[in-house]
Amino acid sequence: MSVNVSGGEATFADLGLRAELLEVLSDLGYEEPTPIQREAIPPLTEGHDLLGQAATGTGKTAAFALPVLERMPRPESSAGPLALVLVPTRELAVQVSEAFHRYGRILGARVLPIYGGAPMGRQLQALKRGTDVVVATPGRALDHIGRGTLDLEGLRTVVLDEADEMLDMGFADDIEEILASTPEDRQTVLFSATLPPRIDAIARRHLRDPVRIEMGQAGAEGRHETPLVRQSAYLIARAHKPAALGRLLDIEAPTAAIIFCRTREEVDQLTETLNGRGYRAEALHGGMEQEQRDRVMSRLRSGTADLLVATDVAARGLDIEQLTHVVNYNVPSAPEAYVHRIGRVGRAGREGVALTLAEPREHRMLKAIERQTGRRIPVERVPTVADLQARRMELTRAALEECLLQEDLGPFHAVVESLTDEFDLMEVALAAVKLAHEAGGTALDEEDIPEVAPRTADKRRGREGPGGERSARGPAGGMARLFFNVGRSAGIRPQDLVGAIAGESSLSGRDIGAIEIADRFSLVEVPHAAANEVIDALRRTTIKGRRPTVRREREARVRRR
Ligand code: AMP
Repeated sequence: MSVNVSGGEATFADLGLRAELLEVLSDLGYEEPTPIQREAIPPLTEGHDLLGQAATGTGKTAAFALPVLERMPRPESSAGPLALVLVPTRELAVQVSEAFHRYGRILGARVLPIYGGAPMGRQLQALKRGTDVVVATPGRALDHIGRGTLDLEGLRTVVLDEADEMLDMGFADDIEEILASTPEDRQTVLFSATLPPRIDAIARRHLRDPVRIEMGQAGAEGRHETPLVRQSAYLIARAHKPAALGRLLDIEAPTAAIIFCRTREEVDQLTETLNGRGYRAEALHGGMEQEQRDRVMSRLRSGTADLLVATDVAARGLDIEQLTHVVNYNVPSAPEAYVHRIGRVGRAGREGVALTLAEPREHRMLKAIERQTGRRIPVERVPTVADLQARRMELTRAALEECLLQEDLGPFHAVVESLTDEFDLMEVALAAVKLAHEAGGTALDEEDIPEVAPRTADKRRGREGPGGERSARGPAGGMARLFFNVGRSAGIRPQDLVGAIAGESSLSGRDIGAIEIADRFSLVEVPHAAANEVIDALRRTTIKGRRPTVRREREARVRRR
């Protein structure tokens, strides 16, 4: 069976999920399933194997977590987990466990993340007490299997999440070994952002008659026409998104904009943040009464508000005449949603702009959208404080120009004349401009919004947009190469280096670039901007029991293939 993910209006209830889960999803403000969830949840609940192509941002975690939870509770016979989820990094192990915990708390699901670097004692205790779901990095999972502390006898489901990433990190043998320790009649689920032949080979060996789900692979005939709007994307760490959005709104100065969020909670939070920062924003989501919605729309139409913060569901069918900008506060969960959203601007010759904020790990979804729409979405630099200053100055200049052209300035003659007795005319003009400028602008935001690079796995595989080009800038400032004085002879594997860096610094596994391991030393690429932080953080740590010397090797430009 093969499914090509496309639109559709099924609700979570239509997918046959139990009442407790429907309640949780509604509490979380999820208004409808994402396309991957729509396609994956029914067959997974029925127990089929599945091979899914899905990147971060598509909602893939819930797509495999909900069916596992749907099939709880467990038979009482075994203390071992019902489901084992293998993930490439400890960061993802934590994230996926948190997601399972969020969705499964109501059912009393016991979820345990296990990954290298974390204290063994607590993991052993938790495993002994019994768990329902274990989310693990392959190395640590194998460690526990070897010690006999991870009992896989009662296992029903194995999920390989971000399988391509796990292969890239050298976990292929570990995965084979782990799968060999699981029951033959288990359900096997494989999610991968890309489906290269190596993934197909694993699927052929370990999946039984899997349902295949592919996203963003439509051929030319399946392509979606995007209106000719100006499209840009910005790579921003999550913590800086509100500030970056503010900057963009200040620079773009939309007549009216709709800002799309994923959940009801996010809509409410962002509306509050924007209003707190002095914007005029209104929330619109599916949890609101018709009367409230009408009120919001009339505020927007009358110009009392100029920003509408909405979920896809709530915004469906809206036609707002004066809309100039569509902002995606996150990358939409499927290319179709992107196309629908930006279709709201640029109609009938109107000016249209679509801005997308993406976290570095969502960079792949942008690429999927580019592939499907056949149009490049350039990744731009978030405007700096200097850009903002320049833009405000430009606005002041435009206001003065308009005033000179249109206003009767006669009444002010006397003021200027009296001042020119004492001051130069230029100085008088400068003072007047300063006052006009200060009166027109809100306090300047000086918040630092660091530039971030796209996830490096994309770079390693040389994934490119439809035009065969990379984002114009490439990763901010490129990558720096770090030299470690430990290598193969000390038993160092790529995952040890990734684990140490991701564990000790603010980088995640995804930020780390190419890794080379020689006999006596190793070389690791990290984003230039983070190199000093990584060197500093690693001074305090040990890798395989050794305290490494780490220093910059040389600047490495990102390689093009
Ligand atoms: P993932 O692709 O699994 O990393 O999920 C991306 C984000 O989308 C996460 O923050 C989820 O909480 C969120 N999410 C997943 N499914 C939905 C949904 N149906 N509606 C709204 N948000 C969702």
